[in-house]
Amino acid sequence: MNEFVETLLDLPWQIGDPKPAYDVVIIGGGGHGLSTAYYLATRHGITNVCVLEANYIGSGNSGRNTTIIRSNYGLAESVRFYQRSLELYQGLEAETGCWVMHNTKGQIWLAHSVTAARTEQTRALMNAACGAHTDYILPDEIKARCPQIDLTGGGRYPVQGASYHHEGATARHDRVVWAYAQGALRKGVHIYQHTPVTGLLTESSSSGVDRVTGVQTANGAISAGTVLCAVGGRVSVVAGWAGVRLPIRTHALQAFVTNAYAQEFAPIVSSNDLVFYISQTPRGQMLIGAEYDRQASYRTATSYSYLQACSAKATTMFPFLSKLRILRSWAGICDVSPDFSPILGDSGVEGLMLSTGWGTWGFKAIPVAGEQLAEHIATGVAPPLSAPFGLDRFSTESVMADPSSAGTR
Ligand SMILES: Cc1cc2nc3c(=O)[nH]c(=O)nc-3n(C[C@H](O)[C@H](O)[C@H](O)COP(=O)(O)OP(=O)(O)OC[C@H]3O[C@@H](n4cnc5c(N)ncnc54)[C@H](O)[C@@H]3O)c2cc1C
Repeated sequence: MNEFVETLLDLPWQIGDPKPAYDVVIIGGGGHGLSTAYYLATRHGITNVCVLEANYIGSGNSGRNTTIIRSNYGLAESVRFYQRSLELYQGLEAETGCWVMHNTKGQIWLAHSVTAARTEQTRALMNAACGAHTDYILPDEIKARCPQIDLTGGGRYPVQGASYHHEGATARHDRVVWAYAQGALRKGVHIYQHTPVTGLLTESSSSGVDRVTGVQTANGAISAGTVLCAVGGRVSVVAGWAGVRLPIRTHALQAFVTNAYAQEFAPIVSSNDLVFYISQTPRGQMLIGAEYDRQASYRTATSYSYLQACSAKATTMFPFLSKLRILRSWAGICDVSPDFSPILGDSGVEGLMLSTGWGTWGFKAIPVAGEQLAEHIATGVAPPLSAPFGLDRFSTESVMADPSSAGTR
């Protein structure tokens, strides 16, 4: 993929080394780092910006995810935040001129018990109150929207109903990364691939690090007015260089695809009780995922036990899957916060900002988080949509706990 990005895409890459100083240096060329660069340049005219990527752009989770975009969360602040993202995604192709293969499919979120049905009914009502389009639907409508489903759940997980999120969508993950990169590059932002940041430039006193003033790379130091850390699962290491200890644990998340299924499988289907989700890729493959690995680690290997457990859940609800073969599996390392919500904005150390806590749910947030962080960097004030997701919420007992909404991506 790197060869494709570097030789076939119309990206005006920089030649030579980064400049010695920028207004903003962004560590990490994933979706979040690049969308922030894009919105800094396009919305605020801040183009003296450099994105430093250790590998190739999109090589982290932004190029490894299962591409689900939705806003059917359980807290008002989260619904509004993700709804803004969903709408930015809907306009991304028109805005950037890049085809990101955005496809509105609708998401069915299954309820297998009376309690789960009540939860999904509540979700539908509160989503509607906050601007997201979600209805509660009954088994007949579920079958009409997804004929492949076994409504008896193999006799063990009967389907009582579901919330149906009309605007649930997918987009091609690496194309989203390239769209933001191309847009930022055209405005004059510098993006350097294969340039790992190896340390932070800091000013310290007896009480610790007072200020971050730039970054260190193998090719030398780069000064910055603001450093944004957008490094996905590596965030604890990078923040640690500034003495910032984050409430983040890094866990691997696995997913897999089967060979192509000839019929259409229209919606995205998720089950919180079984903890798995499924959709069909544009190539016809069935794309399946479940929860992240219980043990915290930086390991990106996939495991037979995961494939076995996840396949068993998926075939329980969709028996046709037993006729398909697993073609490919992969994993990414996810920065999971304790309340399953992102951490955006000030790090507590001057000059260092954060885009983290994206866990297993951050692809859908790439547009809104970039937009909000760009405004925060430009104005110095957290905008209303991202303000509830500051790091300080953990010390002020205002956590944004919504695990059941993040559970199945
Ligand atoms: C299998 C899987 C399925 C998922 N499914 C979904 C989904 O359906 N919907 C959804 O919303 N989310 C999903 N996610 C989560 C989503 O992919 C992530 O939350 C999101 O991509 C995070 O983007 P990011 O830019 O923060 O991180 P990344 O894309 O991981 O980018 C971080 C970048 O920083 C770079 N980096 C690290 N250290 C350094 C350094 N020292 N110097 C320079 N660069 C550095 C890395 O190389 C990497 O490219 C899924 C994740 C996985 C793994």
